[in-house]
Amino acid sequence: MLEDLLSKYPDLKHVYDLTTTHTRYRKRETINLIASENVMSPLAMLLYLNDMMHRYAEGKPFKRFYQGLKYVDELEVKASELMGQLLNTKFVDLRPVSGTTANAAAFRTFTKPGDKAVVAPVQAGAHVSHTRYGTLGALGIEQIDMPFSLEEWNIDVDKAVKLIEEVKPKIVTLGGSLYIFPHPTRPIAEAAHSVGAKVIHDVAHVLGLIVGGVWPNPLTEGADVITSSTHKTFPGPQGGLFATRLEEDYKEIGKVIFPMFVSNHHLHRLAATAITALEMREFGRDYASQVVKNAKALAQALASRGIKVVMEEKGYTESHQVVLDVSRHGRGTKVATALEEANIIVNKNMLPWDRPEDVKDPSGIRIGVQEVTRWGMREGEMDEIAELIKQVVVDKRDPAEVRRKVIEFRKEFLEVQYCFKISREDEVKLLSLLLHP
Ligand SMILES: *Cc1c(COP(=O)(O)O)cnc(C)c1O
Repeated sequence: MLEDLLSKYPDLKHVYDLTTTHTRYRKRETINLIASENVMSPLAMLLYLNDMMHRYAEGKPFKRFYQGLKYVDELEVKASELMGQLLNTKFVDLRPVSGTTANAAAFRTFTKPGDKAVVAPVQAGAHVSHTRYGTLGALGIEQIDMPFSLEEWNIDVDKAVKLIEEVKPKIVTLGGSLYIFPHPTRPIAEAAHSVGAKVIHDVAHVLGLIVGGVWPNPLTEGADVITSSTHKTFPGPQGGLFATRLEEDYKEIGKVIFPMFVSNHHLHRLAATAITALEMREFGRDYASQVVKNAKALAQALASRGIKVVMEEKGYTESHQVVLDVSRHGRGTKVATALEEANIIVNKNMLPWDRPEDVKDPSGIRIGVQEVTRWGMREGEMDEIAELIKQVVVDKRDPAEVRRKVIEFRKEFLEVQYCFKISREDEVKLLSLLLHP
């Protein structure tokens, strides 16, 4: 029947083919090294396909504007509780539909247009939403950058503390998208609190490492708020959250997220977020520690093959990320494109010494190993990946030849690990239950 439909409606066939071909390409045939991506477990994916995607739930659990939500309310409370257990706080709100939306709500709660924010600078990896070009700018908040120390590849703490005391901002932001060493929450929070500023630490990239216990939890180090995505090292559905130390901050941001930044908050992701939280409770420690081991192993393996990996002097990385300086190999655009032709998926990235006009062709490549770790790869596989990357970047082999090896290599890593396992029959049963209840 499907075959008949596909031959009768060419546009339908086109959409169908693009979707299934993409899925085969990225789930079977590529080595995915984008640091902001991950894959859900089959159980989380299946429960994502539920009727809640059709419904509206404005307001808060048990205080909604529409009827029919008794199970949604309970599920939202449960999912928030599970995330709270992992983050060691009672105050988690899953209504932000993305990390950027969470930032918007947190920034807006503590500032008015014209107020000042002291932010971790772009060199320290800051996300566009923390800058005048993104959410911060859209809210009319003035951006003042903390100084950066290239030796530490981090915020220059002493200078940042002085700056905060001088500027007396309303908010201070930490966290980043190019994020290899933890930002110094404790001293920054002390300085911020001494001038009455709130500290918002954006952990979008490292949430999975925090709940796995291998990265410091900013909430226990003095940050007032964490904002996050739920789909980077935390391998849940695309979405966002904020969590706070104090109940009053939780309530205040809660009054801003709705009605200012979401109405419906994409309810079908709640079940998948809860399943992922449960999987992280069971397997998160093993997953997160393997992620960091893999990142260090990949960095070492690339460096030993003549590719410049930044921060050798500090052991390359403490996170899921490995940062390459490819200025000797044709720069970021060329390298990322050649790797893509070999089915190795990375992104080009600005490095601290790049000039603003280098944005189209920066000198860096950012790599994240969280997804390949989920596919079950360990240190030995990191060495193989480094060899494949080297063949493209250093040896300038024909990418098509490397692509064949990549597809062969992936064949042994087609099942998501660190999650609840179900059988193929269970999958069919569950899908059928969700489609035809
Ligand atoms: C990815 C990222 C975001 C944005 O998250 P979305 O969920 O894509 O909106 C925000 N902050 C940081 C630091 C990020 O890396």
